[in-house]
Amino acid sequence: MKQHPENIVTRFAPSPSGHLHVGGARTALFCWAFAKGRGGKFVLRIEDTDQKRSSDAASIGFVKDLLWLGIAWDEGPEYEGHGGGARGPYFQAQRLPIYQRYFDALIASGKAYYAFESTDELATLRDQAKAQNKPFRYTGEFARAMTKEQGDALLASGKPAVIRFHTPPEPITIHDEILGEATIPAGETDDFVIRKADGFPTYHFAVVVDDELMGVTHVLRAQEHFNNSAKHIVLQDALGFRRPIYGHLPLIFNPDGSKMSKRDKDKVLRKAVAERAMTSPPADSVDPGIFGAWLKDKNTQLDLSASVALAHALGVVLPEINVDDFRRSGYLPEVLCNFLSLNGWSPGGDLEKFDTEFLQSHFDLERVVKTPAKFDRSKLLAFNLHALKGMPREEFVQKVTVHGKVYHAEFMARLTESQFRSLCDASHERSKTLDDLFRTNGFVTVADDLLEWDPKAVTKVLQGSVPSGLDHLRAMEAILHDCEDWSVGGLESVLKSYADQSVAGNLGSIAQPLRVALCGGVVSPPIFDTLAILGKTSSLKRIARCLASHS
Ligand code: GLU
Repeated sequence: MKQHPENIVTRFAPSPSGHLHVGGARTALFCWAFAKGRGGKFVLRIEDTDQKRSSDAASIGFVKDLLWLGIAWDEGPEYEGHGGGARGPYFQAQRLPIYQRYFDALIASGKAYYAFESTDELATLRDQAKAQNKPFRYTGEFARAMTKEQGDALLASGKPAVIRFHTPPEPITIHDEILGEATIPAGETDDFVIRKADGFPTYHFAVVVDDELMGVTHVLRAQEHFNNSAKHIVLQDALGFRRPIYGHLPLIFNPDGSKMSKRDKDKVLRKAVAERAMTSPPADSVDPGIFGAWLKDKNTQLDLSASVALAHALGVVLPEINVDDFRRSGYLPEVLCNFLSLNGWSPGGDLEKFDTEFLQSHFDLERVVKTPAKFDRSKLLAFNLHALKGMPREEFVQKVTVHGKVYHAEFMARLTESQFRSLCDASHERSKTLDDLFRTNGFVTVADDLLEWDPKAVTKVLQGSVPSGLDHLRAMEAILHDCEDWSVGGLESVLKSYADQSVAGNLGSIAQPLRVALCGGVVSPPIFDTLAILGKTSSLKRIARCLASHS
């Protein structure tokens, strides 16, 4: 067995069939930290040999997600000044001539062969094995019984063929830095396909060739690939390649033990729709036809933009699954990296909050756990709140502004600069995410004459006891009308003195009626901030409308 004596090289090798899942992001983060902390290189390779599932858009999405997290690659696809390198191309679909050289070598040495069984024939073989209660293992009797001339004639006639690897009938031992050692008994690994009928290599083949040619010394990847390593090892040996060091990382699950999947979003939406007994979609959210079909068939999923629109209309937060979801929800990339690195690893002691520089210098395979990690959303939220609270006000404003411009352009356009600034000031201390400000302050952007009042809040806060909320509101309307200093301080002074006279200083009991009148419900920033953000004209209009509608 050959080993790598040289500098460390790790790689992240996503198949770009969608967005970057948090599990993938955690793998990338660990590969990156492991290499960078040891003066090594981190390679990004796009495994796009499954032409049906891969797309360029998904590749770009992956690349952007990684950069947003701060995980830059030394070699890989060229994007915004990153990547390039002498061992490319870094898209597997562009490496077909390279793979062909190794196919030819294996065929020439008799270590691989063409196989001509059709899909139907293979299905029959599978059924036969099943009927005998045996797992199906392709052992190649048919292909090997054929003479070279017969095989060549079939190939020349254009009969579709795959190339299979002739797996030696010996046990295969996998050494893993995290999971230890496992031996796969002889005969378990069959003569697997290494080149598909479309001429593309299979994952097993491409990964082995590329890891060798790209000088990869350490393969850190998800535990679900552990068994695949057996196939990779026999191929490495057959091709005379070095064996990388393996480390298979624990999977990340929801706290209830289920897989974190994009279906989780549909689950949340279905629950909210059922609670509201809805049969048609909220206005301006999802196309009614699509909504109806989705409602009827529990196995269907809404696409991302429809899910986001429906969640927005229902006022629910979608569970984040992909890196892009966390970004949209307003998590900070450095917090997400910190939190992700605790899923399956810890630096030891009580230390939980650290940056990626710390991760680089401390990450090791010894402290990676074997058991699945549980993704604790409340902890992530607490980390994000802590980080937002701890940052200087100007930085908070700048980050919220950037977030708003990308995800809430309409909201931003409706506010004046000073209104937005006041909203930031009022939200900084209590924002768990950069998105909170936009999600919880919709009242600011509603036109004064379109504001609707939550009937429950009206009954509870405005009506009932004497003096009622409406009585206080009427009194405050007059006071606010005469208020000349419409700053937080000025408003506080006039309203506090009214509270002192009317409700023995119990500010809460007069703030709530005002809040309902101004915002439609019982949640808003502190009441003086709310008034200041809306401004005098808007505030008075809303109070007058509320009084007229409920008196
Ligand atoms: N393309 C594989 C995946 O996305 C990579 C597996 C590996 O790292 O070897 O799961």
